[in-house]
Amino acid sequence: MEDGKPVWAPHPTDGFQLGTIVDIGADSLTIEPLKERGKTFLAPVNQVFPAEDDVNKHVEDNCSLMYLNEATLLNNVRVRYSKDKIYTYVANILIAVNPYYDIPKLYSLDTIQQYQGRSLGTLPPHVYALADKAFRDMKVLKMSQSIIVSGESGAGKTENTKFVLRYLTTSYGTGQDIDERIVEANPLLEAFGNAKTVRNNNSSRFGKFVEIHFNSKNAVVGGFVSHYLLEKSRICRQSSEERNYHIFYRLCAGAPEDIRQKFHLSSPDSFRHLKAGPLKDPLLDDQGDFSRMVVAMKKIGLDDGEKLDLFRVVAGVLHLGNIDFEEAGSTSGGCVIKNKSGQALEHCAELLGLDEEDLRISLTSRVMLTTAGGAKGTVIKVPLKVEQANNARDALAKAVYSRLFDHVVTRVNQCFPFDSSANFIGVLDIAGFEYFEHNSFEQFCINYCNEKLQQFFNERILKEEQELYQKEGLGVNEVKYVDNQDCIDLVELKLVGILDILDEENRLPQPSDQHFTETVHNKHKNHFRLTVPRKSKLTVHRNVRDDEGFIIRHFAGAVCYETNQFVEKNNDALHMSLESLVSESKDRFIRELFENSINSKDAKQKAGKLSFISVGNKFKTQLNILLDKLRNTGSSFIRCVKPNLKMVSHQFEGTQILSQLQCSGMVSVLDLMQGGFPSRAPFHELYNMYKQYMPPKLTRLDPRLFCKALFKALGLNENDYKFGLTRVFFRPGKFAEFDQIMKSD
Ligand code: ATP
Ligand code: MG
Repeated sequence: MEDGKPVWAPHPTDGFQLGTIVDIGADSLTIEPLKERGKTFLAPVNQVFPAEDDVNKHVEDNCSLMYLNEATLLNNVRVRYSKDKIYTYVANILIAVNPYYDIPKLYSLDTIQQYQGRSLGTLPPHVYALADKAFRDMKVLKMSQSIIVSGESGAGKTENTKFVLRYLTTSYGTGQDIDERIVEANPLLEAFGNAKTVRNNNSSRFGKFVEIHFNSKNAVVGGFVSHYLLEKSRICRQSSEERNYHIFYRLCAGAPEDIRQKFHLSSPDSFRHLKAGPLKDPLLDDQGDFSRMVVAMKKIGLDDGEKLDLFRVVAGVLHLGNIDFEEAGSTSGGCVIKNKSGQALEHCAELLGLDEEDLRISLTSRVMLTTAGGAKGTVIKVPLKVEQANNARDALAKAVYSRLFDHVVTRVNQCFPFDSSANFIGVLDIAGFEYFEHNSFEQFCINYCNEKLQQFFNERILKEEQELYQKEGLGVNEVKYVDNQDCIDLVELKLVGILDILDEENRLPQPSDQHFTETVHNKHKNHFRLTVPRKSKLTVHRNVRDDEGFIIRHFAGAVCYETNQFVEKNNDALHMSLESLVSESKDRFIRELFENSINSKDAKQKAGKLSFISVGNKFKTQLNILLDKLRNTGSSFIRCVKPNLKMVSHQFEGTQILSQLQCSGMVSVLDLMQGGFPSRAPFHELYNMYKQYMPPKLTRLDPRLFCKALFKALGLNENDYKFGLTRVFFRPGKFAEFDQIMKSD
């Protein structure tokens, strides 16, 4: 950075602002902003970056800029966004800014056709270009591919995932039902797994990996969806501005009269599980969405019976939520179902195929095995207190709904079966790094997942880069990066990892969140990645007591987890009384939903013990399977960016966006590229591009020699480029500079 030349310096809302350096201190610089001449401010040296000469210029691949840093990336993305160019490459990584409106023709059939078979970089950056690259790589390398879509809530992951699926089925399908079904499965998955939140009106509350399978002729033959961690707490509780899963409101708003009667449906405000949040959202059309969902169900091949099964269980869960308890008034200390809940009990029992009396007993008492007085093995019924009964009711609702969601995914998978597949392209749509005011078990799991994905990203991006340098014989020094294995170990290591400590707590006769938290702190006293909330310099965490949480230093920043409810949220098992109730339901469908759980005979034998099914360790296993899969495929990355918190078009909140780019690891990629050779061009491409400007004597040379001669003639600095075996590698910005010389001569 030279005196007088413009630099990017921090700005509180825009991320960066242009200015010039007027004084240089030990670790800070005095900056005069371009917009406010005469005023100055101090900025830390490491937050001031060189700016490009022309800050209004934008480039399709950020690597062709002269200066690769977070400020020039942010500016490039900003300039492009203002021109509706929402996609930008950083080498092979695609950045996608959510436009929050439909850009004309951006995803049209014409556009799909344009991108087919075209190499990355020949057309403007697009999610279709990445999808086509995945397809061509699969075809040429005969290797499965994956596309990892990440970003915060509302950044556009699910929309981009759908564009990839539609692109691939449209371009490389066989024109049969299967193609449509892969696309039409989404409305059904979204109905049951998406909800309105403060961050996104259609927020996916589960993660998914969708595989499109191809035969040896590279035509679509089927699909497979794996899902991760449905957010169960939402089924019984939502914050005041959020809603439950879409399906509940859609059913209430759109079900035809006969279904309404049969399932005793009425408006959402008559159901406890729905009335906490907004019943209707001006931006959501529950009635229309119901009709569209029904059409989608038909298209993927669900018959009327199956459709009614799904609706019946959804209605059953709603009625279950309306059951209220009150103290029994006797000396038993137990509770009874309130009189006015009689109908809810009746409807719920009817819809879930349960005996009303059995349901009443199972909700208000728990079966225990007594050893008192030596009479070993006597089964007794212990009455539940009101609060315990409330918990039992909610646990049942969560179990039934999450089993129903599992079923929806399984059923969807039956819609696009395949006998054999040569390769697949998988698209991962899973929540990005989360850091809220209050962070619980859900954020803990999702951030653990993001640590693993970040590690994979580093492995792939850095490894690939270095392998390429090696293959081309460039002899460049190895690039070092921060490995986050220690953070992953902290969570998943056997016995001492937080997940195992939590499981251990769950197995205690009287587990407690507090004891779990203390164990975590004791086991990891001096761990670099873990701190106690009170000791943290981050004042925002001061209100969390040391035994109420822990702070983990993630790759994307420190997060304070409040451990209240960790124990409960880590357990997928129902009380035995409830488990046997549903697995002995008169209704075949309900029985099937619970078929894979412990069978009722077992349940009776174990009566008294609370069985424990670990949510955290199930996720760990799933995640490790997923990562094994990803490691065996070629990979591409899409980093989605949310432009503003208001969810509106044409508003670019720089600081917000900068922090997303930092969290997604893009800034470290730029650091790597700045030190390496980010622009590259095959000899024959350069030859074809520039032969028109050269005398015939030169054009008779083979492309490699042609390039050598050309660079010598132009007097290019030898530090700015390197010759590989098949292509020339340029230092940041040097290709663009060279291109300019050629074209201006
Ligand atoms: P979550 O993690 O909450 O599921 P997400 O990253 O999946 O969030 P999306 O649901 O894909 O976010 O996008 C949120 C909303 O933004 C969409 O419902 C849509 O209105 C809008 N949107 C996203 N991408 C685009 C796009 N490419 N063009 C137009 N609108 C878009
Ligand atoms: Mg989503």
